[in-house]
Amino acid sequence: MTWRFETDPDFQEKLDWVDRFMTEEVEPLDFVIEYAWDIHDPASRILVPPLQEKVREKGLWACHLGPNLGGPGFGQLKLALLNEVLGRSPHGPIVFGCQAPDSGNAEILAHYGTDEQKKRFLEPLLRGDIVSSFSMTEPRGGSDPTGFSTAAVRDGDEWVISGEKWFSSNARYADFLIVLAVTDPDAPPHQRQSMFVVPVDTPGVEIVRNVASFGHTTADHGYIRYDGARVPADALLGDVGGGFAVAQTRLGGGRIHHAMRTVSLVKRAFEMMCERALSRQTKGTTLANLQLVQAMIADSWIQMEQFRLLVLRTAWRIDKFDDYNKVRADIAAVKAAMPTVLHDVASRALQVHGSLGVSEEMPFGEMIMESYRMGLADGATEVHQVNLAKQLLRHHEATAELFPSGHLPTLRAQAEAKFAEQLAGLER
Ligand SMILES: Cc1cc2nc3c(=O)[nH]c(=O)nc-3n(C[C@H](O)[C@H](O)[C@H](O)COP(=O)(O)OP(=O)(O)OC[C@H]3O[C@@H](n4cnc5c(N)ncnc54)[C@H](O)[C@@H]3O)c2cc1C
Repeated sequence: MTWRFETDPDFQEKLDWVDRFMTEEVEPLDFVIEYAWDIHDPASRILVPPLQEKVREKGLWACHLGPNLGGPGFGQLKLALLNEVLGRSPHGPIVFGCQAPDSGNAEILAHYGTDEQKKRFLEPLLRGDIVSSFSMTEPRGGSDPTGFSTAAVRDGDEWVISGEKWFSSNARYADFLIVLAVTDPDAPPHQRQSMFVVPVDTPGVEIVRNVASFGHTTADHGYIRYDGARVPADALLGDVGGGFAVAQTRLGGGRIHHAMRTVSLVKRAFEMMCERALSRQTKGTTLANLQLVQAMIADSWIQMEQFRLLVLRTAWRIDKFDDYNKVRADIAAVKAAMPTVLHDVASRALQVHGSLGVSEEMPFGEMIMESYRMGLADGATEVHQVNLAKQLLRHHEATAELFPSGHLPTLRAQAEAKFAEQLAGLER
């Protein structure tokens, strides 16, 4: 039997160290550095690199990567347990070198990049010297990438990129963008586009404006215009027409990593809710003694644990199959479940905190907004529900019979026919 729900003691020791390090060194950064991905922020330049050094010394840098790329190659299950701790602070992944979108961008550069691309873009990205941005969504719509119109036209030894992209996170801090563009409009829909690595300072790349997510003080999502931006022929990442294949390589990992970190936000909301319920008095007793509050706590724990187990099982299946195609349904399920769990638990935690809960002095409003962001980033929830249902239905068949195969009178008649001989003569 291999069903186990416990962590190896030696890895637990690492998790305990990470837990202390996060509480004492990393989480306080959130109050003095405005935005974790802004590695050029003067406070970040002073405070973050020494912590990253400590993480390297502990052998915990870039835990999403295998040893060939300078990571420890823990696999996704251990990464899930680690991300459950790192997700408590936006600085967690930055200090440990596994932040989105850079982790996904590094994955595709490692997989598809030329030696030159790896040297110029991947190596400094893995060292944490630079950050990157993924530029795919367009102002006219993101859920249907076959409708994107940003185009790259070959001109001699160069590609010329024109069009607009929307919500390219962290573009303002990035050194390079990974851009999806149409290279053959007449090809079948999933072979029309290709991926390019574009330095941000390429003439013709203009950040029209940086858009803030509601409630954030910094505007971190780039609305970008590519106006005849010329890049050399070898800026292509992967094959011509292979843009979708490259995107899928990155998005599978990205989605499950978001979910791993979301587990920690849910846990945090749950812990705060329990503490408040036990501390706050009303009518001579604590909130914890009120049954409607108890129901909120019970429902939250059930949702949290169901989600966590789904995430861990999915991580385990990624390790087992080593092929994202075999776990597409699992990842779609995790992605679709994530916003609701975070939304529900954070909302109940807010409610239990009363007026303090809705105030800016507590993090619940931000957590609830994060649940909406998680329902869109890397694809809208509905798209994942549809994909999940399609994949699940492949394992089922229609019946040609008049009644469904679970029809009770039909099953009873079959059972009676099967046992007719043995039961003959019994009074029933
Ligand atoms: C925090 C955050 C960070 C992001 N970062 C990036 C980034 O770095 N790079 C990047 O390229 N993009 C990024 N995005 C954009 C993200 O990929 C898109 O928001 C997402 O793909 C949805 O596209 P859209 O916003 O255009 O919504 P639309 O495609 O307009 O969809 C709107 C709504 O319509 C419904 N809908 C759409 N299609 C279907 C369907 N097939 N079935 C049922 N309902 C449907 C859903 O309710 C959906 O929410 C980010 C988004 C967020 C919120």
